[in-house]
Parts: sequence; structure tokens; C-alpha cells
Amino acid sequence: MNAAAILAGESATATKAQRAAAECRSVAAELLDDPDNLDLALRLHAISAEPRNAAVLFDLACRIRDEHVGRCFVPAGVVSPIAICAVTPPCVYCPRTPGYFLTDAQALEALTMLAGHGLHWVYLNGGTLPGGYDAQALALVEAAVEAGLSPVLNFGPSFSRAGLRALHRSGAAAIVTSTEAFTPELFARLKPGEAPDARQVLMDDCEEEGIPFETIAIAGVGERIEDHLDHLRRLRRYRCLRRVSFSRFRPAAGTPMADCMRCSPWAVARLVALARLVLPPACEIGLNMGLEADELPLWFAAGGGGGRIHAVVASPRDDGHLPAGEGSRLAGPQGCVVVDRRPLLAGMLAEFGASLAAFPPRMAA
Ligand code: SF4
Repeated sequence: MNAAAILAGESATATKAQRAAAECRSVAAELLDDPDNLDLALRLHAISAEPRNAAVLFDLACRIRDEHVGRCFVPAGVVSPIAICAVTPPCVYCPRTPGYFLTDAQALEALTMLAGHGLHWVYLNGGTLPGGYDAQALALVEAAVEAGLSPVLNFGPSFSRAGLRALHRSGAAAIVTSTEAFTPELFARLKPGEAPDARQVLMDDCEEEGIPFETIAIAGVGERIEDHLDHLRRLRRYRCLRRVSFSRFRPAAGTPMADCMRCSPWAVARLVALARLVLPPACEIGLNMGLEADELPLWFAAGGGGGRIHAVVASPRDDGHLPAGEGSRLAGPQGCVVVDRRPLLAGMLAEFGASLAAFPPRMAA
């Protein structure tokens, strides 16, 4: 097609695009007023398959993010995994490796080291052992607080109600209860080794105890968009919900889902934008750990972000989650690999008008 033909078709295309954009704006505005309305959410999701319409939705989501959460990210440390996961059989997407976790001594040393590198927040990731990690988590929380850190605990449904209270009293800033999926059939398919309601019970316990919590949803595992919308509409009812993160499914070798397709970034971006409209506006929308920094621009453009971002990761060894060029290595405990992604994240965020909070080093790298 030559330039004249393109220009001749331009005004008709422009009018059609304007109509579609106007429809997108109007449906989005209705959804903001009525976030439980499934029909509106489904309509908006369908319209946003077209990139020109998605741009309208993303713009609205970004304005909500900018107004209520902001564009400044706070770097957080991650110490992971700290304890054995006893879920049997393992979740079908999980590349869990037996014996692959940090000892208590390594984890404690990593905490001091992260605090020394100017971090304030740290995610402490288990291991799941239903009802079994009260004492170990409490010791870690006390050590983290002592080091000047605000710990967030991600141990699945591994705490008793009394343990949860003790963790909160001792300074646990939040609990991660990654439901992944609320739909019972989907949850049972993804997590056949777990009690179907244990993670929701943890969420309910946090809510009743007034403990802030975060959750994680996985995208691209054969779910329907209705499953995500149902999940989001349930989550929005919790007063103590602070953050919802999304994982973009990536098949892992050796798992039952090894031959499945990788989830598309476009699917996650549209989901993030919808979540921004449906969830309470001050809720952070995170990118789950382990994903490359390459995910950042589209996620941010779709309205994701604000708040904490996983920036310095301490793990037993290089597990392939951080490809070359994602960060620099910091000296850490023996047998522990520590990757600092702050320079990379700060540079990428600055490219699109966001920023990473200052991280004055208190210790030489
Ligand atoms: S609970 Fe977590 S670590 Fe355990 S099998 Fe499931 S995804 Fe893997």
C-alpha cells in the first residue's frame, strides 16, 4: 500500500479509533463507579485486546497509580528460600529443588548484610509447612527488626493464629498469602498438595487480627479472565490488603507444566490495568519476584507499581531467576548468592519518569 492510499483511509480509521477510545473511556468510568460489575470488567477486557484501546485503559490506570500510590519505588531485599516446603505433591508449576534453602545462620547473616546496604524492607520467603513455622519465623522477624529492617513473611499457610499474632507484635510488617487462584477447581489443579482453603483462612486471620497482607496471583496457567476478575473482586473486600502481585507463568523444566506455553506479557498488562480499576486505589500492584527487569516498562505503562520492588535478592545459589546483566553480585554469607539489581532498576525506572528511592550504602559492596 502506498502513502496516498494510507492517507485516504486515515480519516475513516481515525473516526473508528476515536469511537472505540470513547467507548473504552466510558466503560472504564462505569467500572470505577461499580468495581463489582463483572459484565463491565469483561467488556473492558475484551475492548482492550486492541492496543489502541488498551492505551486508553492503561492511561487511566496510570493516572490512578500516580495519584494514589505514586511513581517512586522502594527497594526491598529478598531472602529466599529459608525453609523446606513440605507440600506434597508440589504445586504443578513449581521447580522446587529438594535441599535448596538457606540455613538459619545464612539467613541471619543475610539480614545484617542487607541492612548494611541501606535497605529498609525485606521479604523472607519459606517453605510451606502448615502450622509449622511459628518459631522459626519469629526468630527471623526478631533478628530483622534488630537489624533495622521491616520484614514481610512469605511462608504460605505455615503459621498458627497465635503465631501470627506473635509475629505481628514482634514487628512483622506484613504477611504474604499467595492464593494464586481463588477458583476452587483452578486452585486444586495448580496446588494439589495444599488444603483448598488454607491460604484464604490465612487471609481471613490477617484481616481479623488487623495484620497487613499481600497476595500473589498467577497468570497464564489455563485460567479464564473470569477467574481473575472473581479473585480481584473478592480481594478488594479486605481492609488489610496492601498489595497484589502478578506472576507471568513461565514453564519450569521437570514440572508437570514443563511443556505448557509461557504466558504473554500482553495478557498480564491488561490484567494489571483492570486490577488497578477494580482494587482499592491505594493497593500496590506488584510484579512478582523472579521476573526480569524487562517486564518493568509494560507493567508500569499498564498502571502497575508503586511501593516496594524486589531489588536485592539473597538465595542459596544462582537459580536462573536473574539472567546475566540483571545486577551485580554483593559479598554475602558463605554459600549464598546476593544479586543487587538497584542500579539496573533505578536506570530503567528513570527512563519512564519513575524513580527508585535513594539507597545510601552503609557498607562497602
Ligand atoms: S508451596 Fe510454594 S514452594 Fe511449595 S510447592 Fe507450592 S509453589 Fe512450590
